[in-house]
Amino acid sequence: MSAKMISIEEARARILAAAIPLPAEERPLTEVLNSVLAEDITAPHSVPPFDNAGMDGFAVKAADTVEAAQDAPTLLRVTMTLPAGTPADGPIGPGEAAKIMTGAPLPEGADAVIQSELAEDLGSEVRILQAVKPGRNVRRAGEDVSVGDRVLAAGTVLGPAEIGVIASLGYPRIQVHRRPRVALISTGSELVEVDQPLGPGKIRNSNGYALRAQCQQLGIDADMLGIVPDDYECTRNMILRGLDYEVLLTSGGVSVGEFDFIKDIQDELGVERRLWGVSMKPGKPLAFGVRDRTLVFGLPGNPVSAMVSFELFVKPALLRLMGHRRAIKPTYRAVMAEDVVASDSRTYVVRVRAWRENEIWHVSSTGPQGSGMLRSMVGANGLAFVPGGPQGVRAGDEVDFLLLREDMQEP
Ligand code: AMP
Ligand code: MG
Repeated sequence: MSAKMISIEEARARILAAAIPLPAEERPLTEVLNSVLAEDITAPHSVPPFDNAGMDGFAVKAADTVEAAQDAPTLLRVTMTLPAGTPADGPIGPGEAAKIMTGAPLPEGADAVIQSELAEDLGSEVRILQAVKPGRNVRRAGEDVSVGDRVLAAGTVLGPAEIGVIASLGYPRIQVHRRPRVALISTGSELVEVDQPLGPGKIRNSNGYALRAQCQQLGIDADMLGIVPDDYECTRNMILRGLDYEVLLTSGGVSVGEFDFIKDIQDELGVERRLWGVSMKPGKPLAFGVRDRTLVFGLPGNPVSAMVSFELFVKPALLRLMGHRRAIKPTYRAVMAEDVVASDSRTYVVRVRAWRENEIWHVSSTGPQGSGMLRSMVGANGLAFVPGGPQGVRAGDEVDFLLLREDMQEP
């Protein structure tokens, strides 16, 4: 394997080269968070669609208020009350005002709104206590969006604000890139399901759940096809099922052990190999290939290796399939808190706690880093990359790191 081992960057480039954005589909607005827009959104009308009150108060002609003051109020006749949602059935004339609520259409003839706090409501009349300028507290038609504006461009990642804007323009359904259908297979005769008792020599299938959760974070509900024992025929049949999906993730069986035949099965089923072996630790045994429209990832079995490989390789591929232009998250520089030496020439991917102090990122190892020790991922909000080779890094040196979670940054 070592002869063919490639860098993390090279592996990712080969994987992304095979990941082509999926076609668009129409989806309801309630189901597009974090999806990528596959059409331009233009405004069929202005927002707001009409001039309206920006405050509760009285719609007036500004010219009528020029002499108004606290000790010399101007008296205006109140001719109508305008709740939001109801247009006036006529204009206001000189010396007249309309009681108006926020969002209600401004009546014809009015050009300003004086807020309730600066008016004394007498019922059929109102005392205006301050002069207002034309346009005061008026939200103009089109001040947010003008009819015909291209409000959002294809390729935009949809967050709550974008979804709100689309709703304001009257589109209940929009075109977004489809999410890939993903299958998960856990290989290993030692595996039992999470709700099963541990027999002798058995462990529970944690990879299936961790990987499914990693997919879920991207809005993808992966199908867990289940556990297969280390039997060639069983595994082959299960992988055949997985090839109906657009992305197939297997875990385990991809190393050089006697029962590691994932690669052989991939070959037999016509999966065109694009890489095997990445110069990193953990996560060296990664076998990636393509068959028809399926991206096939043979992930390592060790739980940390599987999760790290997902983060570095599967996630960018899934994002690209979903139409994201920025599939690779940027790395930052951080000060390493302790000495770390890689055990060989491979890049050492250290699970770290990352925090910011005086504008500078710091990272510190989460503890024992065995690739089977899933607890090294618990509490980790970053992955630090320590160059392979005898040098390593000393406490205080800078390393590149990838921030995994924004919600865990306390020192
Ligand atoms: P393998 O690559 O199949 O040799 O697996 C490497 C290590 O990961 C072994 O110790 C396996 O028991 C463990 N392992 C494989 N699959 C899983 C899984 N789904 N859940 C937890 N551990 C696993
Ligand atoms: Mg195995």
